[in-house]
Amino acid sequence: MTRNAAIDHVTGYFDTGRFEEELAALVAYETESQNPAQAPELARYLDAGIATRLRAMGFDCRIHANPVAGAGPILLAERREDDDLPTILTYGHGDVIRAQTDQWRDGLHPFRLVAEGVRLYGRGTADNKGQHLINMAALDAVLETRGKLGFNCRVLIETGEETGSPGLAAFAEAQKGELAADVLIASDGPRLEPGTPTMFMGARGALSFDLVVDLREGAHHSGNWGGLLADPAMILAHALATITDARGQIRVPEWRPDSLTEEVRAALRDLPVAGGDGPPVDEDWGEEGLTPAERAFGWNSFAVLAMTSGVPEAPVNAIAARARATCQLRFVVGTDADGILPALRRHLDAHGFGMVEIVAKEDGAFQATRLAPDHPWVEFVARSLTETSGAAPHILPNLAGSLPNEVFADSLGLPTVWVPHSYRGCSQHAPNEHVLKPVCRDALRLMAGLFWDIGDGKCPKPPLTA
Ligand SMILES: [Zn+2]
Repeated sequence: MTRNAAIDHVTGYFDTGRFEEELAALVAYETESQNPAQAPELARYLDAGIATRLRAMGFDCRIHANPVAGAGPILLAERREDDDLPTILTYGHGDVIRAQTDQWRDGLHPFRLVAEGVRLYGRGTADNKGQHLINMAALDAVLETRGKLGFNCRVLIETGEETGSPGLAAFAEAQKGELAADVLIASDGPRLEPGTPTMFMGARGALSFDLVVDLREGAHHSGNWGGLLADPAMILAHALATITDARGQIRVPEWRPDSLTEEVRAALRDLPVAGGDGPPVDEDWGEEGLTPAERAFGWNSFAVLAMTSGVPEAPVNAIAARARATCQLRFVVGTDADGILPALRRHLDAHGFGMVEIVAKEDGAFQATRLAPDHPWVEFVARSLTETSGAAPHILPNLAGSLPNEVFADSLGLPTVWVPHSYRGCSQHAPNEHVLKPVCRDALRLMAGLFWDIGDGKCPKPPLTA
């Protein structure tokens, strides 16, 4: 009954092909949350796919209707061993992004697991079925080895993440007691490098909005009216040019973060941000004097996602009436999400662009979250991963992308530690999504070691309350 025995157990689970078998079964559920016709698959996934397995591990499982009408159900499972033991909450999402079936290469199919060399192809292998399967199997290995976990465990699996997690915040608010825990330990997203474990403790926030210049009714002949009518595209271009300078450095004062402390800088030092299949980083883009890691994980970035005036596919000789840009700010902690658009309004007005309208997007914002790299839970998890893998993990204060982590960090008030099991070349959200077998095998071992250590009673103790 040792740590190594639990790790050997889960290694055997992988090496005998059982991980592949179980992943194939989960991938076969066509759980596209963006496709309303697949709604019954979401419930089937939670019930037949997940709850059946968790019940066999001694979990009580309940599948809740989503508080938002039409959104997918949410599974809440609990294995309670003793009120005096720590409680771990873990999270995953059973839904996948649109399958894009006709775009996968020959021999592959989104809902069939295909093994080719070191790769396991299938929709959801990386995002997120493979990741929560790894965590469940690692819990199982500890149970099989120790006869108990040594801690209480709660599992939350939602089925709407790919549509912005509708109802998740309301659900967490309503189920606060059922979700109470000492820490969130969950898995999503990629490792920085496939061969090195990664941890991150939050995510950048994201807010999308439109800038619209709408000057008059209809377009007017550019010969007769050029020089007489203001051009909305030019006004919009100049307004955008006040938001950043020519190399993308943000000029809206409230949008410039003050949270890139020495401590965060030290945490980001030497972390690899590029490489793999991605394009090379533009060294002369973004905030001057910051390293690429600081720009991606420690700073805010503004992007124009799309813009239009007239009809680009069929231009005519006319001054357009209207121009529109869909924009996005990705932001780190310290930037107040509710203050982002009011700050932009003041900034545009101050530069004489009162005619540029700001239209908030209905799907709202992701808040930014982060945990200090020296938080006791961060140090504990890092020590455990280091013991299993023999090398220190990459530790990010937060992910550059966005996650519904605010539900756990802010609403539930938990320290949040994410251990991602995918890699950056995994084609998540694209055809040919896959995971790497060696990363999955390694991840199973890391998580078995981590869950073993938590049950060993060495994890951080919650502050004593009166
Ligand atoms: Zn996704």
